[in-house]
Amino acid sequence: MSQSVAAKIDPANPPDGFLAPRVLSVRHYTDRLFAFTTERQASFRFRSGEFVMIGLEVNGKPLLRAYSIASPNWEEQLEFYSIKVPDGPLTSRLQEIAPGDHILMRPKPVGTLVFDALLPGKRLFLFSTGTGIAPFASIIRDPEVYEKFDHVFLLQTCREVAELQYGIDLVRSVREHEFLAELCRDKLHHIPAATREPFENSGRIDAWIEDGRLAGIAGGELSPETDRVMICGSMAMLQTLKAVCEGRGFQEGSNADPGQFVIERAFVG
Ligand SMILES: Cc1cc2nc3c(=O)[nH]c(=O)nc-3n(C[C@H](O)[C@H](O)[C@H](O)COP(=O)(O)OP(=O)(O)OC[C@H]3O[C@@H](n4cnc5c(N)ncnc54)[C@H](O)[C@@H]3O)c2cc1C
Repeated sequence: MSQSVAAKIDPANPPDGFLAPRVLSVRHYTDRLFAFTTERQASFRFRSGEFVMIGLEVNGKPLLRAYSIASPNWEEQLEFYSIKVPDGPLTSRLQEIAPGDHILMRPKPVGTLVFDALLPGKRLFLFSTGTGIAPFASIIRDPEVYEKFDHVFLLQTCREVAELQYGIDLVRSVREHEFLAELCRDKLHHIPAATREPFENSGRIDAWIEDGRLAGIAGGELSPETDRVMICGSMAMLQTLKAVCEGRGFQEGSNADPGQFVIERAFVG
């Protein structure tokens, strides 16, 4: 099937209702994953962990998909972490972007993976698979998370070891950051695990919870009394971990009604 290429976006004249930030950098991690940064227009505000609709102009029309903003809300640039779906309407084209190009972006971010949707707690658990780490890349770079919680545990599972590199680089950059390093010391804990290749950690997150490995590292079983959980991944992963949380007495929260855990799909399908 031949696919039309994306048209160059004129930043001086974007379609009505869109921003058109300029791409600043692109980094390809694997043949399925890449990250990129864009300029952030001064008017664009968001809460760490939210997502926004971004895309390109294809056949004269905006082609948009939901994307978590991976950068924290204090950063001057925006960062996104993306899958490359072969034949995916957007990502087959988006993976071609280069510095100097422009993307389309809706000006209104939304989402449930935000502090406002959680009650206060002592330990925060961030459970992700694949690109589901993107909203947590924002949250672990927000100083507020280290004010609100004594410990932050970031778990990411991927099939292959190479797919964990974005998270490994991210956590290293937080630990070396001039301001965040001090704030996150002894508080930020990273557990990357591969499910289909040998690695220092292996297995799915529900297995880590049920067999006690997570409790061993975190210093106690998950409890709605002290712990808050954010979950981002495939539909199957969300359903499994939602059931695990509810089985332990956690109640789901929302922006309107904060609770003990929140979930968001990393993609539809
Ligand atoms: C709230 C929300 C936040 C999202 N945030 C991100 C993000 O930060 N980064 C990102 O890459 N995608 C994210 N997505 C998915 C994104 O919206 C698109 O689906 C993705 O960019 C692929 O677009 P496409 O048009 O190429 O293919 P689509 O037609 O949208 O998808 C084709 C198929 O590819 C698979 N797929 C899509 N996205 C992914 C993914 N991320 N990981 C694994 N398989 C996938 C699904 O099976 C899907 O049915 C998010 C989705 C939602 C609902």
